[in-house]
Amino acid sequence: MDQDSSEQQIRAAAFKFLDRLTLEHGEVLPSTELRAGFVFEGQRVPLMGPQGIFKPAVLEWPLSITTVPVVPGKARPYEDELGSDGFLRYRYRGRDPGHKDNRGVREAMQRKLPLVYFHGVERGQYLAEWPVFIVGDEPQHLTFTVQVDDPFASGQDPADQLPDDARRAYATRLARQRLHQLAFRHRVLRAYRESCAMCRLHHKELLDAAHILPDTHPEGEPITSNGLALCKLHHAAFDRNIVGVRPDRVIEIRHDVLEEIDGSMLRHGLQDLHGQPLLVVPRGEGDRPNREFLTRRYQLFLAAT
Ligand SMILES: [Zn+2]
Repeated sequence: MDQDSSEQQIRAAAFKFLDRLTLEHGEVLPSTELRAGFVFEGQRVPLMGPQGIFKPAVLEWPLSITTVPVVPGKARPYEDELGSDGFLRYRYRGRDPGHKDNRGVREAMQRKLPLVYFHGVERGQYLAEWPVFIVGDEPQHLTFTVQVDDPFASGQDPADQLPDDARRAYATRLARQRLHQLAFRHRVLRAYRESCAMCRLHHKELLDAAHILPDTHPEGEPITSNGLALCKLHHAAFDRNIVGVRPDRVIEIRHDVLEEIDGSMLRHGLQDLHGQPLLVVPRGEGDRPNREFLTRRYQLFLAAT
């Protein structure tokens, strides 16, 4: 088998392996399985290595690029910023454009090879996007440009009518948004032991990761300390300022709602929470709701009442 066709076949097998892992684990994949990989014609093919740019021994060119998880309490510049063209920017390894990992990615770009992009959710847990393509190289910024292709372009979506580049920029932006939202949800639900902070409801399907400061807010970052795990009812009530949380984590119900007379759902689901502290908070100090964020959100609640 010549090198080019085996490159393509091994990549296709890697994508199938990811399909299988996703069926088994859902969207968030354990790095142990990604590092172990799969066997192709008697040879092991890991998908992820110790460095961001990874090339398994059986391949000539890199197979994956990885951004590391955010460490709670530690600032990290995003390694997957969007450029003004709508495509992701992925940082070089180190500062030397000639490093062999960077040369490998450049070669993958010239050969239009499909890669996997791994996005760290937390230690040992990753989201994956594939296939992605390297479509640009900016040595002056020490970054590569990454594009997510949209294999499901159906002609139904208005974006399908756009020129290819615009459509791919749109797909890339959506993919990045999806990765960040999934990562945020995963971290927040885990920190709250998959329970609603207000009522303890312990049903993952009925829980959301709510933002304390909305994600449209300049500081509304997708970090756990800006999140609350809330059930659907309490999330909607929180977003609409029917329920507020004081900086000391005590729940308040809006006055007019507190005075309403209705059935048991209103009474037990909302009114009884008034004056109660949050029932579930994360064990880790760095994961708990940031007091400053709560203060500002509570001011928005007061302004709305
Ligand atoms: Zn709840």
